[in-house]
Amino acid sequence: MKGFAMLGLNKVGWIEKEKPAVGPMDALLRPLAISPCTSDVHTVYEGALGDRHNLILGHEGVGEVVEVGNLVKDFKPGDKVIIPAITPDWEAVESQNGFSQHSNGMLNGWKFSNAKDGVFADFIHVNEADGNIAILPPEITIEEGAMLSDMVPTGFHGADLAEVAFGETVLVIGIGPVGLMAVAGANHRGAARIIAVGSREICAKAAKGYGATDIISYKNGDIATQVKDLTKGKGVDKVIIAGGTVDTFEEAVNVVRPGGIVSNINYLGSGDYIKIPRVAWGLGMGHIRVVGGLMPGGRKNMEYLSNLMKYKKLDVNPLLTHRFKGFENIEKGLLLMKDKPKDLIKPVITI
Ligand code: NAD
Ligand code: ZN
Repeated sequence: MKGFAMLGLNKVGWIEKEKPAVGPMDALLRPLAISPCTSDVHTVYEGALGDRHNLILGHEGVGEVVEVGNLVKDFKPGDKVIIPAITPDWEAVESQNGFSQHSNGMLNGWKFSNAKDGVFADFIHVNEADGNIAILPPEITIEEGAMLSDMVPTGFHGADLAEVAFGETVLVIGIGPVGLMAVAGANHRGAARIIAVGSREICAKAAKGYGATDIISYKNGDIATQVKDLTKGKGVDKVIIAGGTVDTFEEAVNVVRPGGIVSNINYLGSGDYIKIPRVAWGLGMGHIRVVGGLMPGGRKNMEYLSNLMKYKKLDVNPLLTHRFKGFENIEKGLLLMKDKPKDLIKPVITI
């Protein structure tokens, strides 16, 4: 089969590989819609996972089942399914402990384009099919469905980690597709005021559509100072970080109230340490929690989040600014995610 791969640092291209073997609990899919992610960009162009060779990229998409193992109960060839970016080993102790993202090792629930070949291939192997894929409801298009792999669950996970509650003021730093879904997630969880930090007009407009009440730009100076001005010095209840760098945590802790939460879903592709300002952190006694997490994968999460789209509580179309047809456009899509032109939020490619 052919696949679009990271050949080495800063190098991508098409390669040939063996079609994956299907174990008794596994499924083999062919892609119907796929989408490149900023995480693919961190992996290839920042070397965030180290120098990988011939690793097929991609972890977002909708596929059609071509083959299933003899122990798979709920899926059959021809089914259209959502492919979660994270496909944990459900029997692992970490999964039983509530952190399936780290089943059998840190981040090891993230298999596509990390622990094994990704979804930009003629065939896609899914471990533990019954636990990991979900039927795409007929009300959802394949392009919309591709946003359920990673953008929706990651953004909503940011809001979950922040434990957003009714009436709160929430700051969302970075409003690319993930941050926009964090805005939507915070809005769904009942935030009253949502201050979104972004610089591109298209993202600001989408953020307002998803529930942002205020927009500020990190290009207009320190985020903390701007937020303090907007909140009469009080700061915010929660911060969700979906963009920026290791230095962004300093600004987040500077504006969150005592007892607040800083929830990070950004993939920190470079830098060795994050800095937490001692005084703003209450001299170590401010009850400010800083937490970061990989999105939860698995079938249940896909089914529940897709319900929001099925019943028209969430529309991902404002994210889909660039639509392509044909596998050959995958490189174009990846380069768009790397270069982030003004009119881009997220590309999707139908096969
Ligand atoms: P993106 O690059 O499209 O969006 C990030 C936004 O942050 C950009 O619009 C950028 O302009 C903005 N930004 C840059 N510097 C900033 C700063 N200093 N302050 C505020 N904003 C700043 O990326 P995305 O696709 O939305 O993904 C966001 C991050 O989430 C990426 O790092 C991605 O790899 C990561 N990610 C994490 C998970 C997870 O499970 N935790 C899953 C998917 C993606
Ligand atoms: Zn991703």
